[in-house]
Amino acid sequence: MSKRDYYEVLGVNRNASDAEIKKAYRQLAVKHHPDKNPGDKKAEEQFKVLSEAYAVLSDGQKRAAYDQYGHAGVDGSAGGGYSSGGFGGSPFEDIFGDIFGDIFNGGGGGGSRRSRGQRGDDLRYNLTISFEEAAFGTETTVKLPRHHSCETCGGSGAKKGTSPETCSTCRGAGQVRYQQGFFQMTRPCPDCGGSGSQINDPCPDCRGTGRVKEKRNLALKVPAGVETGIRLKLTGEGESGVHGGPAGDLYVVITVDDHPIFSREGRNVICDTPISFTQATLGCEIEVPTLEGRVKMKVPAGTQSGKVMKLTGKGIPDLQGHRRGDQLVVMRVETPTRLTARQKELLEEFAKEGGESVSPISKGFFEKVKEMFD
Ligand SMILES: [Zn+2]
Ligand SMILES: [Zn+2]
Repeated sequence: MSKRDYYEVLGVNRNASDAEIKKAYRQLAVKHHPDKNPGDKKAEEQFKVLSEAYAVLSDGQKRAAYDQYGHAGVDGSAGGGYSSGGFGGSPFEDIFGDIFGDIFNGGGGGGSRRSRGQRGDDLRYNLTISFEEAAFGTETTVKLPRHHSCETCGGSGAKKGTSPETCSTCRGAGQVRYQQGFFQMTRPCPDCGGSGSQINDPCPDCRGTGRVKEKRNLALKVPAGVETGIRLKLTGEGESGVHGGPAGDLYVVITVDDHPIFSREGRNVICDTPISFTQATLGCEIEVPTLEGRVKMKVPAGTQSGKVMKLTGKGIPDLQGHRRGDQLVVMRVETPTRLTARQKELLEEFAKEGGESVSPISKGFFEKVKEMFD
C-alpha cells in the first residue's frame, strides 16, 4: 500500500512553517476526531494518518529526514506500516542519528534545515604545567585560535540588512536525491554546498561563512591536585556553532612536568633523601625539602636504607580540595667510597670490634642461610 504524502495529508505546501502545520493539523484533527465521528471507520483511519503526518512534520529532524528520504526516512520498518505506538521508540531514531552524524557533522559543512544550527566543534588544548603548579593549582592565560560567530552579520553570513534565502534547488535540505539503478542516492546540494540556504549578498567581514577566525586569550584556572592526563572541560569555550548553533566545549588536557627531586603517588609526594653511613648509624637531624620549603627532620640512630619516614600533610590535596596527602621521605644510606688510609683503618677496627653484633640485618640473614644448608 503506498502511503500518502504527509504534506498532502495536512493540505500544506512543502515550505509551510511550523505554525502553519500546527494550524492545519488542529483544524483537520477536530474534523476527523473519532469522538465526533463514532463508528466511522473512514474518519478513524483519516485521523490516524493525520496524526502520523503531524508527528513527522512537527518534528524538525523527522521532517528533514522525510523531505530527503520520503516515507522510508521516517518509517520504523521497511514495510512502512503505521505503528499505533507512535514514533518515539522506533528503531528509526538510531538510524536517524547515524544518517545525520555522517551527513551533517562529517563534512560538507552543512547545517540541518529550518535554522537548526549546527553545534560547534570541541577543541582540545594541551597544557603543560610544573609539579608545583599541579600541587597547588594555578591560573594561566592560554591563547586559543578558534572560529567564532561573525558579529557583523550575527552568524548568518548574509550582509547586514539581508538574510539568507532557502536554497531553491534542495528546498533547504542541503542534499539532493538522484536515482542510480535501483538505489536512491543523495549528495550534497551543488547549489548551496550543503548549507541549505543561499546567500545572495554575502557579509563582507566573514565572506558569507558566518564565522571569523580569531585568537583570543582565555583565563584558565587549574585546580590543585591535577595529574597528567586529566581533562578540564570548559563548556561552551570550543568553536562557535554554525548558523546560530551552540558552541562546542574546550578540553584542556594536562601534562605535569617531572620534578628533579619529587615524584608523586596519588596525593603523596615521594622524596629520596641521601644520608651518610654515620648519620644513619648514630642518628641525626637533617633538613628535607618539601613543596613549601625546607623542614627539619629527626633521623633515629640505626636507621636502615629504604626506611620511609612521613611528613604528615606535606603532600598534594585531592581535586576536591579536601585533604592533603603526606610527604614520604625515603632514606638512602650512602656507602662511603674513596676512604683515606686512616678511615679504612678505623673501619677495620670497627669491624673487629664485634661488627656482626652491630649489624642485625646481616646477622639474621646469615643465620637463615646457615639453617638452609646445614
Ligand atoms: Zn541547496
Ligand atoms: Zn559576517
